[in-house]
Amino acid sequence: MNNLKKVADHRHQSYITYGPEVLLFTMMLKNMTGLKSMRNMSESFNKEECIKNVGKVLGLDSLEELPHYDTINDFLSGLDVNELEKIRTYMIKELLKKRSLESYRIEGKYWGVIIDGTGLHTFHEKHCKHCLRRAYTNKETGETNVLYMHHVLEAKLVVGDMVFSIASEFIENESENVSKQDCELKAFDRLAKKIKKIFKRLPICILGDSLYACETVFNLCRAHKWKYICRFKEGRIKSISTEFKAIKELEQSKDQNSLVWVNDIAYKDRTVNLMEATMKTEDGKSKEYVFITDIKITKKNVERLIAAGRSRWKIENQGFNEQKIIVTI
Ligand SMILES: [Zn+2]
Repeated sequence: MNNLKKVADHRHQSYITYGPEVLLFTMMLKNMTGLKSMRNMSESFNKEECIKNVGKVLGLDSLEELPHYDTINDFLSGLDVNELEKIRTYMIKELLKKRSLESYRIEGKYWGVIIDGTGLHTFHEKHCKHCLRRAYTNKETGETNVLYMHHVLEAKLVVGDMVFSIASEFIENESENVSKQDCELKAFDRLAKKIKKIFKRLPICILGDSLYACETVFNLCRAHKWKYICRFKEGRIKSISTEFKAIKELEQSKDQNSLVWVNDIAYKDRTVNLMEATMKTEDGKSKEYVFITDIKITKKNVERLIAAGRSRWKIENQGFNEQKIIVTI
């Protein structure tokens, strides 16, 4: 709570009734309870019992009313995002210090961090100079239009069925005249630097989708001393999939196992390890999941590594609202 109190306040100090901690805590309650609108929040929370409880949590016995949503909006509109990021970093570091989540480390060592791009807003007209642009053709009219978008790339710490956002990076263009637009992989480079700066010595294993199965990411992980487990799709890196297939066929003739793995496939100046699991999907069909990693695969750890690789898929398919609560705190 002390951290909430210390958030820099841009408002004129002689006119304020509520400190940043009341405004932010009310907002956190709104997100935690899943209320969609600010108006709804004002109506649901301004009841004696609720005011009393918030007062108790914040140590403010004198609290008589909760702030109106206009007051909160005014405060948030001038708030520096870094202020909230500082709190998030503090919370994550405290959480890790408690050592109660140790059992979720991959191979007893690495913290799984999912990298996940999410669309925030889409507009049909230019919104600002940082918008990402995507041209599309309307099938009925044949007209070509441009969509303007804002995306964010999130790094999320996975601990069992929970995820905690630990860092974010906007995917946006520096200006309107850029020759090449910003993209997820460029944003990942910036996000990785951010994570490394905040969590210098944290042993991390990046969990990425097939877009991340590429040399740029392998190099970044090596530079930051992280591991990776990424989904691997045929064709992402041709030479690797050809070699994996060839060795797999030899192996499979010996053993009809649903789990196959091959270590030390040479790729440029490194070797990579691949594993494949055949799993039943919800409609009863079987589907192959292939993952690429720089962690040595053994008979003992193959199932755990595949489960770690799949954790991002599981979370992606969870209700987005549940995640959003964690992201917006
Ligand atoms: Zn914009």
